[in-house]
Amino acid sequence: MNAGAASSSAENRFTSEEMGLDPKRTVAELKELRALTGDENGAQRVAWTDTWLKAREWFLAKVKDLPVEQHYDAAGNNWVTLRGESERALLLGGHVDSVPNGGWLDGSLNVLAALEVLRRFAAGYAGRPPVTIRLVDWADEEGARFGRSLLGSSAFAGTHSIEADRGRTDREGIRLEDAMRRCGFAIDDFPEAQRERRNAAAYLELHIEQGPVLEGLNSPLGVVLGTKGVERHAITFHGQEAHSGSTPMSARRDALAAAAKLALEIRPIATKHPDAVCTIGSVKTFPGIVTAIVGRCEATLDQRDLNAGVLAQMYRDAREASERFAREEGCTVEWSRIWSIEPVPFHPELIQLCEDAVRETAGSAHRLPSGPLHDAAEVARSGIPAVMMFVQSLGGISHNKIEDTKEEHLELSVIALDKLANKTVEWISRS
Ligand SMILES: [Zn+2]
Repeated sequence: MNAGAASSSAENRFTSEEMGLDPKRTVAELKELRALTGDENGAQRVAWTDTWLKAREWFLAKVKDLPVEQHYDAAGNNWVTLRGESERALLLGGHVDSVPNGGWLDGSLNVLAALEVLRRFAAGYAGRPPVTIRLVDWADEEGARFGRSLLGSSAFAGTHSIEADRGRTDREGIRLEDAMRRCGFAIDDFPEAQRERRNAAAYLELHIEQGPVLEGLNSPLGVVLGTKGVERHAITFHGQEAHSGSTPMSARRDALAAAAKLALEIRPIATKHPDAVCTIGSVKTFPGIVTAIVGRCEATLDQRDLNAGVLAQMYRDAREASERFAREEGCTVEWSRIWSIEPVPFHPELIQLCEDAVRETAGSAHRLPSGPLHDAAEVARSGIPAVMMFVQSLGGISHNKIEDTKEEHLELSVIALDKLANKTVEWISRS
């Protein structure tokens, strides 16, 4: 904290400390959850498994003595509601599910920091804050077992895809629909989860950055502008398989050579724009043997940016470059879209409130886009004003047992989320 931290609280009437916010408790609870649901390889809270259910049961015990109502919606999202003077609601979101061998903070920091903020609201207003405060633990954010991320929040947003999802299977051949039913939820009831959008006035989500930007800037906290849009394509270069011994270098039509040129060219294509990224994550060669020139090369391209125009430009640039390299190498190239999603910018006024909260807590406030998708993107797509706050990740590593953040930064993030929640309650009351 810096000197500015105390001065802003006049308009909030109570300082966080007066109202019983205890950021150290959040860190202690994160460790408790790690001990309960992790092993030597990391967090094992994969959605729709027994360990995930155990984590949720543990969480229920944490809220049972608060003056709140709790229920699961039709998609398995867990809602904890503190009724306020107004029915208009501030939502605070996170996810206790993890990837297999995941980290201790991804998703659970959001949930447990939100719990601390909820406790503070319950204690500070004799259990009745000016607006309703709702904590949501989204079901299956990671999509780790069935390959479908943001499942619960997409049901809430009404962007779910029941027919495409029900038959998805895990490695053992178990269907998503059946794994859900075992936990007490029916995929056909998904549309009912949209009811939870009633009275939702704003959505806040704290998350670890999962990247190296804030650490590089020496900033504990950051303001998230939105989630980047994604263009994902399969690119196939066709050349000519030929013998590696008998074919002169000048006579080759090497599909890998064209792909390799593209793999390097995506760097300048991306770095023309400040926050854009392009990745060729997979390259397969055919026939793929030591004595043959590559006749066919299949590559994947993933491009991301917060600006739809930049995304479209990068796609055109990459496509044009691939055609040029194919010509140079005597090959042809074809493209097919694997998947895409538009950029989701967060709400400008909430971005400003988030910046104020971060600045008051940590001194500086860097604005950055999110490369990974988050539940907040689904909420924002459904028309609810939303914003996210990031806390620094050590080494930028996540989805790994070594994922970590300094404890002092975790504590700052709870304080900043609390300030942002206060500001947002006032914003909801004003608007
Ligand atoms: Zn997450």
